[in-house]
This record gives sequence, C-alpha cells and structure tokens, in this order.
Amino acid sequence: METREKRGVLHNKQRLGPFPMDRVRRVDRPTTIITDAVQRIDLRNTAYDLAARGEYGPVVQKGVQRSLPGKYPLSAAQQDVINHISLIKPNPVAPEIAPIPQDPEVLTRHIKAVGYFLKADLMGTCRVPEFAYYSHDKQGNPIDARYENAIVIVMRKEWNAVHASTGSDWMGDPISFQAYQHLGMVAETIANYIRRLGWDAAAQYGPSFVNRYSVLLPPLLLLAGIGEVSRTGIILNPFLGLGFKAAAVLTNMPIIPDKPIDFGLQNFCQNCNICAQNCPSRAIPMGDKVMYNGYETWKLDTRRCASFNFTNKNGTMCNRCVKSCPWTNPPTWFHNLVRVMVMHSRLAQLIAIRAVYFLGLGKDHPDSKWWFDMEYEDNVIRSRE
Ligand code: SF4
Repeated sequence: METREKRGVLHNKQRLGPFPMDRVRRVDRPTTIITDAVQRIDLRNTAYDLAARGEYGPVVQKGVQRSLPGKYPLSAAQQDVINHISLIKPNPVAPEIAPIPQDPEVLTRHIKAVGYFLKADLMGTCRVPEFAYYSHDKQGNPIDARYENAIVIVMRKEWNAVHASTGSDWMGDPISFQAYQHLGMVAETIANYIRRLGWDAAAQYGPSFVNRYSVLLPPLLLLAGIGEVSRTGIILNPFLGLGFKAAAVLTNMPIIPDKPIDFGLQNFCQNCNICAQNCPSRAIPMGDKVMYNGYETWKLDTRRCASFNFTNKNGTMCNRCVKSCPWTNPPTWFHNLVRVMVMHSRLAQLIAIRAVYFLGLGKDHPDSKWWFDMEYEDNVIRSRE
C-alpha cells in the first residue's frame, strides 16, 4: 500500500498543470541581474497611487477618479464582486499542524495540485526575498517581511476576448478583471486552507483598487520560474506570453522553491520591438536593458503608461503590448511548434520576428466582437459605438 502511494502523483515528477513548463530549461539564477542594492518600494509610490494623488497632473487624477466606480458596465459589475472577495477576513491558524505528510516535496506537490484543482493555469513556488516586500502600506505603516515562502498562482486572460479586442478598447478592464476575480477566489481559498492545516498564510492579489499586496509580484514570478523579464518590464511566460494575471499566497508552510527559467527571451526581446512600436503612449523603451533600483530591466515609463491608461477616451485601460506580443498567441499546435523552435535557436528567433512584422499580428477581429461600446457618464450609460 505504502509503495503504491509513493508512486503516486504527490511523489513523482508528473506534470500537474495544463502547460508543459517541465519542458522549459531551469537555471540557478534569473536571466536578468538582481544585485544586493535593490531597495524596497513604498506602496504609496506605485503608479496608481501617484496618479490618484495628482502627481501625474490633474487630468490623469480626474481619470483615476472616473475609473474608480467603473467606466464600463461589465467591469463595474466585476468590480463589485472583486470588492466583495477582498472583504474576506482571514480565518485563524489551526492550533495544531494537520496529520498529513510533513515532507516539503509532498506538500509542494499537494498545494500546486490544489491550485490546479481550483483552475489555476500555472502554479509556482519560491522563497520571498526581503526586497520583494513593499516597505510601507497605504497608511504608511512599515510592512513586516514575515513569510519565507510564496506560492504563485497564474490565470491566463480569456483568449477569445483578447483576440477580438484592439487591446485599448472597452474590454481592457473586463479582460483583466475576469482573471483577477478568479485569482482572488483561488488565493483566498488556498490561504484559508493552509491556515486550517496549521500554517500561517496571506493571500496577495489585485487589482489596484483593492490591492491586497504586501509584496511585488514580478520578483516572485521571476524566481518561481513563471517567466523572464520582457521588454515591457513585466514577466513573460513562454506559453501565455503577456496574457495573464497573477496572485500569490505567502506562507510559512515548508515548501520546495522552483527554479527560474531560461527560454531565450532576453535575446528575443533585444531583437524585437513589436510591443514598443505598438504602444500608444510610447512608454516601452526601444533600446537596451538598464540597471534600475539595483536590478536589470527594460525600463517602462510608468508615468506615460499610467497617464494613457487613465485618460483613454476610447476604452478602459490599455493592453496593446499584451495583444501585440507574438508570445501571447494561443497554445495551438502551430504556435507551440514555433515556440519550441525559438526556444532553442537564435536563427529561428530572427526568422520568427521577421515573420511577425510581415504578417502584422496583433490585429483586432471585429467579427469576433461580442460586447457593446458604452461608457458611464454622470451615472448614465452612453453609447460609444
Ligand atoms: Fe519582447 Fe517582442 Fe513581446 Fe515586446 S513584443 S515583450 S519585445 S517578444
């Protein structure tokens, strides 16, 4: 009986989720430099908060105020649900550890399997470096770097809507909020479950108007091997591209960290400027990576990006970079074949980039559009068709 159990899914390397991340090369260190000089960021100084405080000017500040109750009926409805999820109070940590195997390998496989059971698209684990914690919360209280481990949860954006959308139309918020709603439910469920098992845990999820974060997610995504740093400055996964949102559960449950991945993205992004050329606010840089706050990145101009997002007159937010990036293509057999080729060959990367420029991918598909263009104005819905 014991032998049969030890051959089971909690004890072997069998793939648990829908995407073949086990085929991607794992490395000891991320493909972008992180030094000891990284400074923790104050949660009051994120782009959203700076825009809301008027640091990007009165027009952008007004745009934040307009976006708060929801500019679009569907995203306003989603916002109500996300706000409701964020009111969940943490249940107490059980006084005793549950009678389950204490082997960190088994616990790690188990908690990832729980995430996939709850319909996550990708799960990862990592240690939480101190610099990943924000220094202060929104009220100015110092944030304690109290949890050693993170469980990272990824949900892809709904592909049919991404395919139909221009990337900067009225579906910007609804597409992101669809992922955030599920992330909030999954993160809260996993954190609640871990506390019932006897370990402390805290759910971390967005979007910015609920902001349940005490950590920045990009370093965790990088360390957990979800993706590499892209030209947009955000993390790109080889099967989802930029088309996903993430959440995390911080915990002191013993888990085994995943390793970072290397699928050749640094060279790909160095030779590809598609997102930068498609960015309506010109916030994505065309040049080389730089060192910023002690780590290496292509430095997004967050002021330009946030300003465009909050003043977009023809939509809610902007996801043109997500839409235009060739890695965001769905995991069809053809795109997966290209993925495998470009992951292993620099020549294939150059050919693929040329092909994308030639084919002009990242177009919208109005025939697949199922939503209506409309906007709240003085509490009345006006058509924007
Ligand atoms: Fe990198 Fe090109 Fe995607 Fe931009 S569009 S993130 S440069 S691969």
